Amino acid sequence: MAGWTLDNARELYGIDRWGNGFYDLDDNGDVVVHLRENGKSAAVSLKSLVDEVRERGGALPLLLRFRNLLDRRIEALNDSFRSAMEASGYTAGYRGVYPIKVNQQQQVIEEISDFGRQYNYGLEAGSRPELLVALSYMHDPGALIICNGYKDNAFVDLALQATRMGLRVILVIEMPGELPTIIARSKALGIRPDLGVRFRLSTGSEGRWAGSGGDRSTFGLNAAQLIDAVDLLREEGYLDCLHLFHYHQGSQLPNIRAIREAANEAVRVYLSLCEEGAPMGLLDLGGGLAIDYDGTQSSAPSSCNYGMAEYAADLVEVVQAQCDRAGAPHPELITESGRAVVAYYSVLVFDILDVTEFAHPEPPDPPSADSPEMLRNLWDVGGALSGKKLQECYNDAYYYRDQVRELFNFGQVTLRDRAHAEKIFWHLLTRINAEVQLLEHVPEELETLESELTDFYYGNFSLFQSLPDHWAINQLFPVLPLHRHNEEPTHRAVVSDITCDSDGKIDRFIDREGERKHLPVHKRGPGEDYLLGIFLVGAYQETLGDLHNLLGDPNVVSVSLDDGEPVFSHEIEGDSVADVLSYVEYDPKTLEERFRRFAERAVQAGNITPAQRRDVMRAYRASLNGYTYFEG
Ligand SMILES: *Cc1c(COP(=O)(O)O)cnc(C)c1O
Repeated sequence: MAGWTLDNARELYGIDRWGNGFYDLDDNGDVVVHLRENGKSAAVSLKSLVDEVRERGGALPLLLRFRNLLDRRIEALNDSFRSAMEASGYTAGYRGVYPIKVNQQQQVIEEISDFGRQYNYGLEAGSRPELLVALSYMHDPGALIICNGYKDNAFVDLALQATRMGLRVILVIEMPGELPTIIARSKALGIRPDLGVRFRLSTGSEGRWAGSGGDRSTFGLNAAQLIDAVDLLREEGYLDCLHLFHYHQGSQLPNIRAIREAANEAVRVYLSLCEEGAPMGLLDLGGGLAIDYDGTQSSAPSSCNYGMAEYAADLVEVVQAQCDRAGAPHPELITESGRAVVAYYSVLVFDILDVTEFAHPEPPDPPSADSPEMLRNLWDVGGALSGKKLQECYNDAYYYRDQVRELFNFGQVTLRDRAHAEKIFWHLLTRINAEVQLLEHVPEELETLESELTDFYYGNFSLFQSLPDHWAINQLFPVLPLHRHNEEPTHRAVVSDITCDSDGKIDRFIDREGERKHLPVHKRGPGEDYLLGIFLVGAYQETLGDLHNLLGDPNVVSVSLDDGEPVFSHEIEGDSVADVLSYVEYDPKTLEERFRRFAERAVQAGNITPAQRRDVMRAYRASLNGYTYFEG
C-alpha cells in the first residue's frame, strides 16, 4: 500500500493515454474532467458532481455530458485541417459535417450547429428523420447538409425545396436507381439539385467496420455504375449539378496506411469526374477518424496508430499531390467525422450494489475428526502446498472438492460439509495463485487461475442499454473507479450489470498490452459507496442501446462552466417504469386499474385490510412512476 502514487493509478488505468488531456486524476484521488469555457478553466471531480446530483435527489446510473468537450473536438478538427493546409500550401479549405446518426440527441445537434457556425460546420443526414432535424437546426448558408442513405420522393422534395430556401443541401447518389428519382422530382418542382455521388472504393480497410468499404460494401456506385450515372447526367443536362465526390471507408479505422490508400484512389476518381466535365469542387472523405479507446496507439480495433493532426496532414498531402500532378485545382475537403467528435462528450456513472468475492485469503476452520474423509483430504492439500507442487495441489484441490460434491449428490455429505469444503477450496486456490504470481514461468493449466479468482462487482446499469458495442462487437471502453486513486486497488473484478442476462457484464478491459480480463478495483466494504465510470461513450452508444429487462434510458446531466464554476446546464430525467412499459404496449393506467381490482378482491376476501390496500396501491403507483434502475 505504501508507495502507491497517483502516477501508479494513471499508469494502471491508462488515463493519460486515452484521456486526451480531458480526463485525469486530482490530488484527492478523484477522476476529474478538464473544462475550459469563456476563458476560464477548471478541473472538475466527477465524484463531486455525482454527489451534488444525488443531494438533489437524482439517482444513478447517470450519464454526464460535457458540451465543452464536444466544442473542443470540433475546434481541434478544424484547426488540424487548417494547419495542415497552411503548412503545405493547399489552396482550398476544409468544411466538415457531423453525421447525425452517431449521436442524434437534440443537445448535440444544437451545440454543433451553434458552435460550429464559426467553421461553417454542417450536418450529414442518412435518413428522412435526420434530414428533418438538419433542416430545423442547420441554417448557416455557408455550411453543408449532406444527404446520404436511401431517398424516397418525399426526401428528395424536401431537400430540393430547402435548396431553394438558401441552404446548401447536397443529394448524394448512393444507388443507381436514385438518380432518375432525383431528376424527375427536380423537373417536377423546377429546382436544380446540388448533387454528389458516393463511390465504392476497391481499396479495402481494416477494423470492425471494414465491410463499409470495398467491392462488397452495400453503399455507393462501382466504376461501371458511376460512368452510367455520368452519362445519364450529361444526357439529361444535369452534369453541371455534380459537385461532390464521396466515399466512406467504415468507422474507427485503426490504420493510417489504409486511410491514405483509400484517399489516393478517391482523388483519382474525383479527378476523372472533373475530366468528364462535372464542375465538382468538393471531396468528401467520409468518416472513420478513430478514437484511441484503449490508449495503445496501435492498429488494434479499439485503437488507432495515428492522431487527428496526422490524419489531416496525410489526407491533405495525398489529395494535394494527386491534384498537382494532374494540374487540377485543389478541392475543398470534407470529412464526416462522427465518433471522433462526440466520443469524449459523455461518461456513464454507476454505483456498485454488491460484490461476490472469490478470493478467500482468510484460512477457514479445520475440519473435525469426524468430518467426511474427502473433506479432511481436501484440507490436507494445504499442508503439502509448496512452490514445486503447485500444479499437483491445484489438481488435488479440484479432485477432492468434486468428490465432496458428488458425495453430496448421493446423500452422503451434508450441505454444511459441502459449504465447508468450498470455503477450503477457494482458500487453497487463493494461496496457489499467490505462489503462481511469483513464478517466472506459469504452467499452462494455472494460467486461468487468476480469472477463476476474479470477483464479481455488480453495477447499477444495463450493458444493453448503455454500452451496446461492448456486448455486440466486443469494443473496449475505458472503465475505472471515479475515486480512491490514492489507494492501491487490491481486488480484480468483472463488472456485472443488473439485467438477468449472463451476457450483461464487462469482462474485457483496456490494458497497456491491449486487453485484460479483469478490472483492478478497490475493496468495497458492505454498503460502502463505490462508483465506476465508463468513458468515451458519446458515440453510438446512446441510441443503439435497447430495453433488455425493461431497463430504460438513464438520467442525464449536462455540466458546463459558468465563470469557472461547474453548473448543471441541462437535466433530463431517464425513463420511468411507466415510460418503458408503454414502449412495449402496456397502458400504465390499465395496469394500475387491473392491480387495483385485484387488491379490492383481496379486501373482499379478507386477505388485506382497506388500509393495506391503500398502502400497496401507493407503492405500486410510486414504482410505476419511478426509475427503472435499482433505487437505494
Ligand atoms: C456512420 C457514418 C459516418 C460516421 O463515421 P465515424 O466513424 O463515426 O466518423 C460518416 N459517414 C457515413 C456515410 C456513415 O455511414
